[in-house]
Amino acid sequence: MSTAVLENTSTSTATTTQAYSFAIDPTPEQGNLLRSHIGGSRFAYNVLLGLVAANWDENREKKAAGLEVTKYDYLSTSHFGLLYLWAETRNELAPWWGENGVSTYNDAAQRLSKAFTNFHRGRAKFPTFKRRGQGGSVRFTNTAVRLSDAHHVRISRIGEVKTYESTRKLYRPVNRGTAKIMAATVCERGGKWTVAFTVEVQRRVCAARAPERVIGVDVGLTTLYTGTTPDGEQVLQVANPRHLQHSEKKLAHAQRIAARRQGPRPGQAPSSRWKRANTRVQKIHSGVANARRNLIHETTTMLAKDYDVIVVEDLNVAGMLKNRSLAKHISDAAWGEFTRQLEYKTKWYGSTLVKAGPFYPSSKTCSRCGTVKAKLSLDERTYHCETCGLAIDRDVNAAINLARLGLPGTSSGTGRGGEVRPVASTDPAHPDEASTDTPPESGA
Ligand SMILES: [Zn+2]
Repeated sequence: MSTAVLENTSTSTATTTQAYSFAIDPTPEQGNLLRSHIGGSRFAYNVLLGLVAANWDENREKKAAGLEVTKYDYLSTSHFGLLYLWAETRNELAPWWGENGVSTYNDAAQRLSKAFTNFHRGRAKFPTFKRRGQGGSVRFTNTAVRLSDAHHVRISRIGEVKTYESTRKLYRPVNRGTAKIMAATVCERGGKWTVAFTVEVQRRVCAARAPERVIGVDVGLTTLYTGTTPDGEQVLQVANPRHLQHSEKKLAHAQRIAARRQGPRPGQAPSSRWKRANTRVQKIHSGVANARRNLIHETTTMLAKDYDVIVVEDLNVAGMLKNRSLAKHISDAAWGEFTRQLEYKTKWYGSTLVKAGPFYPSSKTCSRCGTVKAKLSLDERTYHCETCGLAIDRDVNAAINLARLGLPGTSSGTGRGGEVRPVASTDPAHPDEASTDTPPESGA
């Protein structure tokens, strides 16, 4: 839910961040230049990470030796702190640094700083070194990139790069002044190049609607999305499509093959058999990701258009990282993208997204009597209530509990879910991910 939307009772304009991505066709020479930028960014990232890690080790040793360590002994991991560290060390460690544009190193410092922030907040492990041959990408700042026309992107130091498809849907609003390019990320995957623009878009937003139609959506393992109304009517059921399940199996198989080949290691080039296997993995991966993204787009557009309040679970990220099973991983991925899209689409259509707190027991609570089970294992597909005798599909039960959080005047969960407060999300759409759909209306 966007508070900005709620405060306006009539149509107004709002700025949102959105991503547009296009396939590009660089010449072999441009491809080499882009690879040099990607490699330079990776190099700077690894150098900076190495310096910070060594600094931490040194401080740890000092402490162990009984010496005093203050915060001034630590290198800064802020974006600017890391840029400063790079400026201090680049002449010695990377005398060739001037061959690439400044975006390259700014990108490295920014990414590493973000990785450290995620680590400090407990959202990720300690940053790891980036390996060669993983594809990789480089982000250019807005001063280094622009659209010359609907078929060419001008990147500083690289030149005019042709796009495969027309960039009209971005070129037009940029020319009209209703969209502004903030950055562009170029990446190579499976031999294919894409550019993803992060764009600030001015668009009209609909007035928020009265909460009449409420839906709770549970993301599950067998059924991808289960949606019900607060009265328990099941109105949405999206299965993990069979062709997608098939491709996912193929992907897992290709990954196992690649894992048996001689991959890249420090001081050792990967085998050509590994390269071939890895290209295959990347290809299947991008196919699966695209198909899944389209499915998620269809579902989120329908929800944001047809419902006034959509309630979803705010997943516990730490818990997500622990479970390594493939099915769980897929449903987590489906959830992340699903919520991200709902965040901006609810703004477009004037509906409201409510996120239940990460500890709200939507699966463990009985939707009839409110009893909360102490334990409910993942393979229990049916919820059996010992108190009132209710037997109901696990996902439907969870969706009903979520839907009830979206009813007007609800400040906590049903029955005993007392610690829960639905959190209205004010996060802007993630700019890093590319989306290919178009908003309902744009332009001021
Ligand atoms: Zn019950």
